[in-house]
Amino acid sequence: MSQSVNPFESARTQMKAAYEYLAPKYDHEFTLALSPERIIEVSIPVVMDDGSTRMFTGYRSQHNGARGPYKGGIRYHQDVNKDEVMALSTWMSIKCATLDLPLGGGKGGIIVNPKELSERELEELSRGYVRKLYKYLGPTQDVPAPDVNTNGKIMAWMVDEYSKLVGSWTPGTFTGKPVSIGGSLGRDTATAQGGVYVLTSYLESKNENIAGKKVMIQGAGNAWLVMAHLLKEAGATIVGVSDSHGAIYDTSGIDITAIETLKAAKKSVQDHISGTHYTNAEFLELPCDILIPAALENQITVENANKIQAKLLLELANGPVTPDADTILFSRSIPVIPDILANAGGVTVSYFEQVQNGMNYFWSREEVQEKLKLKMNQALKWVLASSASHNVMLRTGAYIVAMERILEAMKTRATE
Ligand code: GLU
Repeated sequence: MSQSVNPFESARTQMKAAYEYLAPKYDHEFTLALSPERIIEVSIPVVMDDGSTRMFTGYRSQHNGARGPYKGGIRYHQDVNKDEVMALSTWMSIKCATLDLPLGGGKGGIIVNPKELSERELEELSRGYVRKLYKYLGPTQDVPAPDVNTNGKIMAWMVDEYSKLVGSWTPGTFTGKPVSIGGSLGRDTATAQGGVYVLTSYLESKNENIAGKKVMIQGAGNAWLVMAHLLKEAGATIVGVSDSHGAIYDTSGIDITAIETLKAAKKSVQDHISGTHYTNAEFLELPCDILIPAALENQITVENANKIQAKLLLELANGPVTPDADTILFSRSIPVIPDILANAGGVTVSYFEQVQNGMNYFWSREEVQEKLKLKMNQALKWVLASSASHNVMLRTGAYIVAMERILEAMKTRATE
């Protein structure tokens, strides 16, 4: 697994590949869209439990706001850096436009390993991030949400801090909140649920279905466990799972409930008694029908793309396949359902959450899921039609759809 691929360069390469099909109509707007509109870097002081003061670095990248407020999560990870945040914000602009959500793209991050912080320190850090950035946030400006290592509890601290600073309860500034303070039903499972809707419809378009498929999931956060349960319910066999420590593989199927119990006890999947153990790198190259990378970027690169044995990839993580690996997989006729479609269920229900906050009227879980299914299936149709008509991979097909919408909005607003 190569760490040398700069994710922001990957995002730009993906945009350039799609713009070939839109040029020269939006040349001016395209040049602008290659860079985030604004990147804010802040230092956040936290008084630690031992009385010392530590400084943390945080970012918010606002990539494109032509179609609406910037939208995207905040990541807590020791490897967060400016280029990663810029890439993730670019992918959010493309993702929101692929789904035709009236939103732009943004992303934030703090360089921290949250596992090393106490609950009080984590709360201080989260509130400190908002104190440094609140002037740039708001329901019509920029709406953060959870991402890697952040969750509803952190959103609750953040929306509380924000509302105190601006002097009014403003739930629509953050999404992915707990339901008790204006979160949406179905947001907690939305990323995985959206992925299952897309996968089901994609397979249907090939006269196939999920039942009987052997699936491997490279996991880290919460989405992959939900995904594993949903796929199992749909009749798939989960033959492999991994976390940051390693992987297990068992062609007769893995007991997901047992894995969930292990993870709840802060143990690794490798503590599971059945199955063969592999490293994360070996794991990705094992045979299966569907491989679901649901961890971090740059997992499938030039170094392993030729060795992938999966027949189909569904990107639940952001940016797990690099552009060079994409080309190899495309030439090997291994389709990749790209992140900007496959994991868009999360931001789609975030959008629903914001809509409900605006109305102060809330939908049932069933209503949310029905609306999510419609959105995901519609977006898949656009992407399939675009990639078929241009004879390009699904990712480029999606980028063409999304970029035409973004660039047209920029042109209409005469963005400078
Ligand atoms: N962090 C998620 C993503 O990468 C969700 C973003 C959101 O809900 O705004 O799509």
